[in-house]
Amino acid sequence: MSQQRPDNFSSGPAALPAQVLDQIQKDMWNWRGKGASIMEISHRDPAVLELGTEVEQKFRDLMNIPDSYHVLFIQGGGRGQYGMIPMNFMKQSLPVDYAVTGYWSSVAVKEAERFAPVNRVVDKEGDGFISIPHQSEWNRSQDAAYLHIVDNETIHGVEFPSAPDRQGVPLISDMTSNILSRPMKIENYDMVYAACQKNIGIAGLSVSIINSNIIQEPIFKTSMLTDYRTYIEHKSYYNTPPTFALYVTGLMLDWIKEKGGADAFGEINQRKSAKLYDFIDNSSFYINKVETSCRSRMNIPFVIEKTNLMSDFIDQAGQNGLIGLKGHPVVGGLRAGLYNVIDEDAVDRLISFMKRFERENR
Ligand SMILES: *Cc1c(COP(=O)(O)O)cnc(C)c1O
Repeated sequence: MSQQRPDNFSSGPAALPAQVLDQIQKDMWNWRGKGASIMEISHRDPAVLELGTEVEQKFRDLMNIPDSYHVLFIQGGGRGQYGMIPMNFMKQSLPVDYAVTGYWSSVAVKEAERFAPVNRVVDKEGDGFISIPHQSEWNRSQDAAYLHIVDNETIHGVEFPSAPDRQGVPLISDMTSNILSRPMKIENYDMVYAACQKNIGIAGLSVSIINSNIIQEPIFKTSMLTDYRTYIEHKSYYNTPPTFALYVTGLMLDWIKEKGGADAFGEINQRKSAKLYDFIDNSSFYINKVETSCRSRMNIPFVIEKTNLMSDFIDQAGQNGLIGLKGHPVVGGLRAGLYNVIDEDAVDRLISFMKRFERENR
């Protein structure tokens, strides 16, 4: 049923496995014997209520999430969470700490500034976001309400190698572009969240995994939909949830489990990214400037030294069955998204195209 398609390195929304697309196609006319698609059924139908419970359990199993953490499904994507986090977790007059290590954390910090006094514990924009300074160099507040990081910077290709120390402060991490790409210990964080369209589904849904310890009554009034307690109380079904997106995430989690879960993907993703970085580092034609200690395994931005060649690269890559390689408009250049859906063979095909392009254009 599935067709031969190009290798899609888009950094987001990203490719879905053929198996997931096939399943969606099969379910479209008659989901779970309902005589209708998931898009056409009430979210109060027991089967659709059950879907939410199932997807939550799949997250709990795959990520070993303890019962003391809530798993919430929310609309509004990553940016929606950038607003909800300060609204829900700021404390009267206390600063909120933000590590600014790339484009997405700089967006998060601007949103937080609308609500709370912000302290940038580190801000590497001046250097072009190519490193994460050691924590001993961070300028932490004594009494921050929380510390926010972006675990993987999708545009700049910078990833935390491990969780920073809490130092008694709740730690909140945006894992939109690396959730379930490697094993991690959820207990090292108080909140982990992800918009699903990069590694675990499609746009319209995000998942927020929150330690119940940090849930509080927001210090200012918020709307029902921007108060985490609404999602807890109504099991994420207060208003109509994005049922189709929830269903697709359920299929993605099944696929991830079938392939061996976070442990298996951790190894595969390590090999995939090492291969591509090795190739780039050994070439004098392609360049990636990110420090090796914090290079992303998920998103690899690179440029060609002769910058006028980059649009030819994108065109010819497309003719060779490799798509989604254009860099984000904020930084330009090229970028390979190596999410779970990209297998090692696809990375090999990309590298052989890059070799050939280099030979022909050196
Ligand atoms: C894509 C992305 C976002 C933005 O998500 P939206 O759903 O478009 O708001 C936030 N954080 C990271 C790390 C991302 O990669």
